[in-house]
This record gives sequence, structure tokens and C-alpha cells, in this order.
Amino acid sequence: TDITPVSLRQVIDEALLLLMPQIKQSAVDLRTSLPEGDIIVRGGKIRLEQVVMNLVSNALDAVKNDTEPSIELSLSAEDDFAVLMVADNGPGIDVDVLPQIFDPFFTTKEVGSGLGLGLSIAYKIVHDFSGNLTVSNDLSGGARFVMRLPMADDNS
Ligand code: ADP
Ligand code: MG
Repeated sequence: TDITPVSLRQVIDEALLLLMPQIKQSAVDLRTSLPEGDIIVRGGKIRLEQVVMNLVSNALDAVKNDTEPSIELSLSAEDDFAVLMVADNGPGIDVDVLPQIFDPFFTTKEVGSGLGLGLSIAYKIVHDFSGNLTVSNDLSGGARFVMRLPMADDNS
């Protein structure tokens, strides 16, 4: 597979651009917090965009019945890792199903609205680039996904 230096800023910009119709339609308060500069990782740009799109589109689904839907997306550097977080104020994830969340075909959505593949694909992509993808429930109740990827040597 094709692994090159990838700008996570660009990945986020392009993923959000592709999701703009859904973001606008849902009237969600989307807050992004990005570092001053860029963060470069080694991976595939399109595949990493797919990860961000999967996380944000799940978050959009999760907040859709909320009276004040909000999603927070942040990017930061911690030690030598890029940390990208997507958190929402939806209902969160039942602790019973947390262990299955990354399994292929696991879905709680009604037939036809979700295949249950988004997170399993995201998980595989992130691991292919030597990173990890974790989930937890926020203290406030919503779900929080964190992707960690080793930073490339190209970071200034
Ligand atoms: P799909 O979106 O097709 O259901 P995914 O693999 O993307 O498949 O997600 C699997 C399941 O994980 C979802 O059906 C849902 O139950 C749960 N999930 C994913 N993201 C969230 C979220 N942000 N909040 C609550 N549940 C979530
Ligand atoms: Mg999904």
C-alpha cells in the first residue's frame, strides 16, 4: 500500500468539505480546534479522510435528535503522536456494546441506514498506519473517538 507523508490539517479540511451538506443540514454546532501549524503523519491521504468522515458522520447521526447538537473535533500533538479527537453530545454508547463497536457489520441503526462497516474500516486503516483508534463515553454522556498516529519525521 501507498504510504506517504500526509497533512492532517488537509485531511480534516477535505473530510469536512465533503461532509458539508450533512453538517449544514443538521444545524450542528461543529467546533474545531486545530494546532497553529500542521501535523504530518505517514499514511494514505484518502484513507485517512475516510476515517475522519466515518467518525464525523457517526457523530452527526448520534446528535440528530438532540435539541442542541454539537460535535467537537480537535487535532493536537502529544509526544510524537498526532491525536485527533471527535466527540459529540449524543447518547453515547451502551457499555454492553462498547467491545463490539469496531466489529464488521456491528450496527444499531435501522436496516438500510447503516451497514456497520464504517468503524471497522476506520480501525483497520488507522492500524495499517501503525496507529490506534479508541472510544469512550464522555463524562457529559456523548461518545468520544480518539485516533492516534505516529508523527512523521517531516514535522518541523
Ligand atoms: P454504522 O454507522 O453503519 O452503524 P459504524 O461501524 O460506523 O456503522 O458504527 C457502528 C455502531 O457504533 C453504530 O451503529 C452505533 O451504534 C455506534 N456508534 C458509532 N459512533 C457513534 C457515536 N458517535 N455515538 C453513538 N454510537 C455510535
Ligand atoms: Mg457509520
